Amino acid sequence: MHILQIIKYGNPILIKKAEEIKNLDKYIEELAQNMLQTMYAAPGIGLAAPQVNESKRLITVDLSVGENSKDLIILINPELVCQEGESISEEGCLSVPDINEKVARPSRVTVKGIDLKGSEKTIEAEGLLARVLCHEIDHINGKLFIDCLSSLKRTLIKKKLKKWVQMGKI
Ligand SMILES: [Zn+2]
Repeated sequence: MHILQIIKYGNPILIKKAEEIKNLDKYIEELAQNMLQTMYAAPGIGLAAPQVNESKRLITVDLSVGENSKDLIILINPELVCQEGESISEEGCLSVPDINEKVARPSRVTVKGIDLKGSEKTIEAEGLLARVLCHEIDHINGKLFIDCLSSLKRTLIKKKLKKWVQMGKI
């Protein structure tokens, strides 16, 4: 197992729709384990495969950051099947350093996907878990949290990020 490099804003893989995973092979198993280690080392509570340069529909989430194995979620080909309500809270992203903004997300979601054993999983989540699942599913659809902001805010932040990329800051 090893820690992978986290891809930062400006890399086109982050705005590309990731590919569906058709075979649960050793490669996917290892990728998931490496993503977990990378997420814990960051530290972060969620990670999507495009953030480690793999355009695949795979996400890892753990609100406990490795403290409680019951909180660990590894989902292959996750899909948001149901959403309810609205909640506004501050969000950040390991691929968009030093930017934290309030983002509106559904307060309750139902997400379906497949685990590493190939079994179908249905997760009903609310609050922070619902938020993280939405954030990570957005990633595999090529969407970043800053894309959820108003166009004025988004433009200002993208300008700032572009400058940081040019300066080699991120
Ligand atoms: Zn993110």
